[in-house]
Amino acid sequence: MHSYWEDAAAAACKDELERRVYSSRLLGRDKTLVLHGGGNTSVKISEKNIFGEEEQLLYVKGSGWDLETIETGGFAPVQLQYLQRLAKLPSLSDPEMVNQLVTHQTRASAPVPSVEAILHAILPYPYVDHTHADAIVSITNTVDGEATIREIFGDTLVVIPYVMPGFDLARLCAERFAAESGSNTIGMVLLNHGIFSFGQSAKESYERMISLVGRAEAYLKQHGAWEFPPEEQLVPTGNDISRAMAALRANVSKVCGFPVIVSRHANDRTLSFARRPDIAVIAQQGPATPDHVIRTKRLPMLGRDVDTYAEQYRAYFDALEPQAGERKSMLDPAPRVVLDAELGLCAIGKTAKDADIVADIYDHTMDIILRATALGGYQALPAKDIFDVEYWDLEQAKLRKGGKAPQFAGEVALVTGAASGIGKACVESLLARGAAVIALDLDASVVSMKQGLNFLGIQCDLTSEEQFTNALDQSVERFGGLDMLVLNAGIFPGGCRIEALNTGEWQKVMHINLDANLMLMRECHPFLKLAPRGGRVVVIGSKNVPAPGPGAAAYSASKAGLNQLARVAALEWGADNIRINSLHPNAVFDTGLWTEDVLAARAKHYGLSVQEYKTNNVLKTEVTSHDVAELMAEMCGPLFAKTTGAWLPVDGGNDRVI
Ligand code: ZN
Repeated sequence: MHSYWEDAAAAACKDELERRVYSSRLLGRDKTLVLHGGGNTSVKISEKNIFGEEEQLLYVKGSGWDLETIETGGFAPVQLQYLQRLAKLPSLSDPEMVNQLVTHQTRASAPVPSVEAILHAILPYPYVDHTHADAIVSITNTVDGEATIREIFGDTLVVIPYVMPGFDLARLCAERFAAESGSNTIGMVLLNHGIFSFGQSAKESYERMISLVGRAEAYLKQHGAWEFPPEEQLVPTGNDISRAMAALRANVSKVCGFPVIVSRHANDRTLSFARRPDIAVIAQQGPATPDHVIRTKRLPMLGRDVDTYAEQYRAYFDALEPQAGERKSMLDPAPRVVLDAELGLCAIGKTAKDADIVADIYDHTMDIILRATALGGYQALPAKDIFDVEYWDLEQAKLRKGGKAPQFAGEVALVTGAASGIGKACVESLLARGAAVIALDLDASVVSMKQGLNFLGIQCDLTSEEQFTNALDQSVERFGGLDMLVLNAGIFPGGCRIEALNTGEWQKVMHINLDANLMLMRECHPFLKLAPRGGRVVVIGSKNVPAPGPGAAAYSASKAGLNQLARVAALEWGADNIRINSLHPNAVFDTGLWTEDVLAARAKHYGLSVQEYKTNNVLKTEVTSHDVAELMAEMCGPLFAKTTGAWLPVDGGNDRVI
């Protein structure tokens, strides 16, 4: 364990709360201590209230904040003495506890305080730090966990048996702390859950955490239970793997009742783990700390039989639900973690971000399981305890906080010619609706065009079948499949009359605008066919299809060919629940092609001002890339659910088309 504490940085903090933020972030940046919203911290501060009286406040981490990125506003100020009074009640229901926490804050805009707030309040130290340190749970999740913890830490820690977080845990900690703490006590271990440290200063509390976890690490190292270098593995790749991924995603989405992202993590480490002969034992015990269950479910799925997994999940629910205090409705019975000898680790979520959180958690869980196994056997909490957290209203609230999912959440779209103009606008419209988007372009700038976990930019020459199928494999590895395909890439060569049009030029246009799209459609078909809500293809065509212009023979013929290809596809693919529609934009000037100079020259050629030229259509309106992209996105949505084989102008009205 490494302490990141820097006295100079701490001295630059202007008050205790800022120092609390500083050391909370130090904890948060070490992923072996806390992951994605796990852990919490607090500081007790005396402040003057509105009457000018001194008042003791507990600033405790607010729910929904990550320690790594927390700010002063992420701490909820709760009246300390009130919390300490609450701790003496014989019982307090979860909803009432949350009500009491929220109504005894001194800032209306503060976040909901951590459910562990009362526990923080009863510990008689200004600073309290709590983590789910890998090294600690590696030891507590073993058959002799408690004895080992006592052996390592002696009287420096108070040991608390597992109790679900909330009021009962706070009360138990208060009792045990009063009875068992002594002059050497610097922390508290919560078996199968995590560890607390505390101190008079931010530095003392933080460094105690580091040293306590460091002792656990040292113990694991001494007992040959620290590092397990994976053996070199053959990582299966290629089209068969991509199709297996898409089939897995289709099956999981079906059981979930909504489309999901499935991200594959296949490397020496995950494959070594998934291929272990004892995998069916070690990976089927339960999560390392109970709050992981809301992300990962209690157990990973071994192999790809989603129906059997769902059946077992229903049995788990049916067995434990009657023991719950109130009636619960079952969550979807689909897995979130898949361990497969060929696929490695697959992480599942409603979004790419959710899937990545699952992967991070399981990455640490593999370490914890391997270490605990080396110590004598990984033993997680009984299913009942995990169920209670999985179906705990307060944990469910954390997930619900995400609000209503955007239209294309969990769906995957691929856009060609995505680096500029209409293609780029299509990427934006799809991202704005929550889709995971794969952007392909010949231009390398596509790779870093957008940030965010829902975006994957790949440089790709669409006339190369090999490059495209590689890009497709890469996309499926990242997101699990394909739901929407936007065929946008194309070239528009300069004007040339037929008598001067050479065969090479003609073939080049046909090759890019027509042949490449046939290859794309053919290669994407097996994936679109597996799309949970049905596959959708939108072809970005041209006004030139219904109303060709002189001097653009190759372009007009290629786009007309593509239009006809799309219509045939609509006929052939309807049975596969794939819709395919075309858009015919005209005079979209906000693209790279149309510089100010070109626009001015063209306008002058027709004796029009630039504005007149841009709005030279029936509605006298300007058509932008964004307009085209928005219509494309709607064509992929429920509004067009019963439309296929259509071709729709988006041109402000053109008298030749009408
Ligand atoms: Zn905790």
